[in-house]
Amino acid sequence: MSKPKSSGLSRRGFLGSSLGAVTLASIGCGGDDDAESSTELGSGGSSTGGTGSGGAGTGGEVTGPGGAGGAGSVTGKAHLAAACGTFCGACPSYMARHSEDETVQRANPWGDCDGCLSGGMLAGHCQTCEIRLCAASRQNVTRCSDCAELPCYRITNLINFGNYPHRQEYLPNLALINEMGVEEWVRYEEARWRCPQCGLPMSWYDTECARCGEPRSADLFPVTEDTPQPY
Ligand code: SF4
Ligand code: SF4
Ligand SMILES: [Zn+2]
Repeated sequence: MSKPKSSGLSRRGFLGSSLGAVTLASIGCGGDDDAESSTELGSGGSSTGGTGSGGAGTGGEVTGPGGAGGAGSVTGKAHLAAACGTFCGACPSYMARHSEDETVQRANPWGDCDGCLSGGMLAGHCQTCEIRLCAASRQNVTRCSDCAELPCYRITNLINFGNYPHRQEYLPNLALINEMGVEEWVRYEEARWRCPQCGLPMSWYDTECARCGEPRSADLFPVTEDTPQPY
């Protein structure tokens, strides 16, 4: 496993974990627009909130859709570590389909989705995502974290397209996936993207918990009314 090179972000939640302190690589960064691994890099917005019929499920690691589940086991949840490095578990389209509390209503901007590498339902823009398809087409590559060309123009274009803070985490995330292993990284992200009070999962741009109103965790990037948001 390769180690992150230089420090960019530090995440308090992880610093307290059994894995000890980790500094995250900053391998370049930017931000982008809408849907996660949107395919039309450089073209703008995400495509539709499609219906997400059957995704391509190509990526080598297809573990099958899993529920959002508790923070405990991550068995079967490696698919929440997207090819580009995003954490699908905090994506509103994933959360809408895999809610831990059906009484909580939340927006679903892109259509139901089971996660980038689930092999199940994919939101429309992620079905045709250039990054996901590129990773799937390469031997021995499940995610960009496995690829010798990282960071290539595809992923830097996506990061730099728009100014969305969650995409600033792609490259540090990919470095952490290599360092921690994907299952431990998903465990870490599942814990990080939760309400500090009641434990309900929170999405990338929730300012407060949709169930109890607790403000967003300080372990997440800050979100204000001026923060660019993709949905
Ligand atoms: S959950 Fe689906 S729509 Fe959201 S980032 Fe992952 S693959 Fe894309
Ligand atoms: S070339 Fe490598 S880093 Fe770039 S999108 Fe494809 S798999 Fe990812
Ligand atoms: Zn809460």
